[in-house]
Amino acid sequence: MEEKHTTDTFEVDQRLTAHGTYWAGKMGTRFYTALRDQQKILGTPCTTCNKVFWPPRSICTFCFSELKDVVEIGPRGTVETFTLVTYTEPIHPRTAPFLYAVIKLDGADTGMAHFLDEVEIDKVHIGMRVQPVFAKDRKGNILDIQYFKPI
Ligand SMILES: [Zn+2]
Repeated sequence: MEEKHTTDTFEVDQRLTAHGTYWAGKMGTRFYTALRDQQKILGTPCTTCNKVFWPPRSICTFCFSELKDVVEIGPRGTVETFTLVTYTEPIHPRTAPFLYAVIKLDGADTGMAHFLDEVEIDKVHIGMRVQPVFAKDRKGNILDIQYFKPI
């Protein structure tokens, strides 16, 4: 029987924006394993462009270099933009109203959408400093970060 390592790839059960399943690949597997087992958020640096990507990716979107290393980023970050979802759809992971924010973690050059909670809508602003709230029962998907909240 083949031995399993933490670097083995696996499928990700994704429920952040719409439910779906996809193959995480080697880089995604490192990301989700670190998130699940260590509550660490990883990014991938491109040494050619001096950019750090979050979520990690295997190829630089600017120069197409292969990215192999990871660096720990965040966990704090900054809201780059946000939206209030005011209607409920079957594909939504939550019942409206709820907030999505694109958050750029400290040390990263790209942002990622995630839930923003524990905040009043009229207090949300671009540039707001936020931190993750990790799920107690982590499963190896992006909801191992349950949501972000203001610092
Ligand atoms: Zn690059």
